[in-house]
Amino acid sequence: MPLMRIPYTSPLPSPTIIPASATTIQGAVAALQNFLSTPPKTSNARGGKAVILSGAGISVASGLADYRGSQGTYTLNKTYRPIYFHEFSANHEARKRYWARSFLGWTTLNRSKPNRAHEAVAQLGKAGVISCVITQNVDSFHSQAHPDLRTLELHGYLRSTVCLSCRTEYDRAKFQAELTALNPPWATFLAEMLESGALSTENPAERRRRGLKTNPDGDVDVPGVEYSTFRYPACPTCLAKPPEGKRVEVDSDGAWSATSTAGILKPAVIMFGESIPASVKEAVEAAVDDASHVLVLGSSLATYSAWRVVKRAKANGTPIAAVNMGGLRSEEFFFADVDAHGSGRDGVRCSLPLEDVLPALAAQMGAKRDDALRIPTNRNENFQPAPWR
Ligand SMILES: [Zn+2]
Repeated sequence: MPLMRIPYTSPLPSPTIIPASATTIQGAVAALQNFLSTPPKTSNARGGKAVILSGAGISVASGLADYRGSQGTYTLNKTYRPIYFHEFSANHEARKRYWARSFLGWTTLNRSKPNRAHEAVAQLGKAGVISCVITQNVDSFHSQAHPDLRTLELHGYLRSTVCLSCRTEYDRAKFQAELTALNPPWATFLAEMLESGALSTENPAERRRRGLKTNPDGDVDVPGVEYSTFRYPACPTCLAKPPEGKRVEVDSDGAWSATSTAGILKPAVIMFGESIPASVKEAVEAAVDDASHVLVLGSSLATYSAWRVVKRAKANGTPIAAVNMGGLRSEEFFFADVDAHGSGRDGVRCSLPLEDVLPALAAQMGAKRDDALRIPTNRNENFQPAPWR
């Protein structure tokens, strides 16, 4: 069975804080330190270190919005519905709309940086506490914050586009320049929005006041804008040499033409309804099976592929901890056998800001401040396809 990315929109349970002392930052840090310092009771782990599973909650402090609020609903934009893979691959109009919104949203994402929570993950990696990060996020913040600590990107990444025909990947930043050249009126609009500060404010209310709505996938809503005028380029590889039996045609400026039957570029994210590559699925499973502990950071586990990671850890008998604002899907099951008045060694569940909890935890666990994060000044230099491609 292929593993698909599927959204989950049912309400989530309220968080039950375990141990009871983990309601404060200090209490949570002490419990998490006990958790990560205690070897698991079961012999199932194959001697690995702890593995982190991160979700949108870890990027909120970078100015990227979370899909879900504390009630587990889509709070950011009530009318937002993510595009599905079948719509994107089958429909030229859907692609115009997607790329137009992505064109406007890219600047905000590209200017955003990893935050203190990512930095703390880097420090925990250098301190030898964790071996691997599995992330649902497509913002590349983990790989920027800790290039030496392995990151498995469960839902792909926005830093590249990928051709649906030949699977060649291209730099998203260069693609942005191509979109700019193909869509002068949109480029003007984008420049005006940037000038007004509507795209650079990190305050969602202020963004809304200026008529913009930004979603976590780097997508922006612009009321009253006609998406059908938007143009996007064809895959250069397929344009030069179309796949057997296929047609790749462009207009005089190089924009993909609807008469084409191949050469469509897609963001290298796993869209809803799209299968996660088998190589990624296998690498994630191997990491979970090797883990001594699993630490969930900023994920409600609403997406099946993330929930499945924790379910696998639970089946392996691997201790689980979760720091997430608001409820977790199936948390009553994942923490059923953890002592509510224990020290945290068998499991921790707390609902506190990651950018407060993680740096304090990293400091407690002996991570040095000067091991701090090295954020590349130029993202393009750091561009590289994911290791499994
Ligand atoms: Zn191609």
